[in-house]
Amino acid sequence: MKITGVRAIPLSDPIPEERQHRTDLGTKVKSDSVLVLVETDQGLTGVGASLGSPAVVCAIIEHDLAPTLIGEDPMFSERLYEKMYNGSRWKPALETGHSQPGDGRRGVTMEAIAGLDIAIWDVKSQILGVPIYQALGAVRDSVRAYGSGGWAPGDEAEQEMAGYAAKGFSAVKMRVVGRDGFSIDNTIRRVKAARRGIGDSVELMLDAHGSLDVSTAIRLARQLEEFDISWFEEPVSPDDHPGLAEVRRSTVIPIATGEREFTRFDFEDLFFHRAVDIAQPDIARAGGFTEIRRIAAMASARGIRLAPHAWGSGVLFAASIHVAMSAANCHILEVSQGYMPMMNELFQEPYDIRDGAVHAPRTPGLGFTLRPDVFDRFQYIEGPEYVF
Ligand SMILES: [Mg+2]
Repeated sequence: MKITGVRAIPLSDPIPEERQHRTDLGTKVKSDSVLVLVETDQGLTGVGASLGSPAVVCAIIEHDLAPTLIGEDPMFSERLYEKMYNGSRWKPALETGHSQPGDGRRGVTMEAIAGLDIAIWDVKSQILGVPIYQALGAVRDSVRAYGSGGWAPGDEAEQEMAGYAAKGFSAVKMRVVGRDGFSIDNTIRRVKAARRGIGDSVELMLDAHGSLDVSTAIRLARQLEEFDISWFEEPVSPDDHPGLAEVRRSTVIPIATGEREFTRFDFEDLFFHRAVDIAQPDIARAGGFTEIRRIAAMASARGIRLAPHAWGSGVLFAASIHVAMSAANCHILEVSQGYMPMMNELFQEPYDIRDGAVHAPRTPGLGFTLRPDVFDRFQYIEGPEYVF
């Protein structure tokens, strides 16, 4: 089998004005994604998706990465990842046994590589006739899920989080910065409200999107301890691993992070600094299935659990399901509670989420079929996703 075509198609989903809300990231006016297709000479097509600026991702795939894949056998997925990652030195890298990356080893290029790797694993699993998680090596066929959202201001957090628990989730996550902005006192007020809403038996996690400095994060963490928080996510910038380790040493709350880290080398640095209890690689940034399973293995050797970050495109949520079903140290999977048609209306089949768990798809490959009008429904719109 040979790869005969590689296509990258930008998609957008405009958010209706009445659903646009301001958060610490700005006001989100649309969602973008790039759909990645890998076509083969036997008529099978693999589907992947990339994060990152669509115009840039499409150009990188079309000009830099597609030519390296054409004519290759998708069953050689490790080789294809190394080829994309090492660029012109992929042969010496494989001959000598150590990485020799070019200048595209992080950022948007890695997001493009990740999208292609997902598509390669999809088509490879279709050839094998099994779902991706079985091609990777299945460890389970369902995984505990958590409802992820929690932007409501002040005491409204009670009702919002109670709503997630009422859907059957035994764990829920809220944002440290609500729609009413940030102060330690306000976060504590919102957490108290959330606990009232969900009771004592539902787990509660908090996500700060890397927006705090170290001392504020430590002060907040200490005040949060009495509310039995299951993890404190991205308290500080992803560029400050020693600072994150300082926060971790200052609190009994487990620290989670990883959604904005690229490759196993970024995770190696996080682990080296003993900065994290729960690793949250995003398959679209970490480097696709090939790299994320290396990260999962590295984490497990250190007793670190895996909770894949899953956001944006339905392809990425579907891919994250397969990660969760194949990584032994994955204990929970994120299920977005935000307004996300590109996640929830991309496929013809619904996700199987019930009783607080996500269940694996049963058909070969990714296990979901793109809706027939996908390019009309999610026609690309130029411009930024967030307006500040
Ligand atoms: Mg997060």
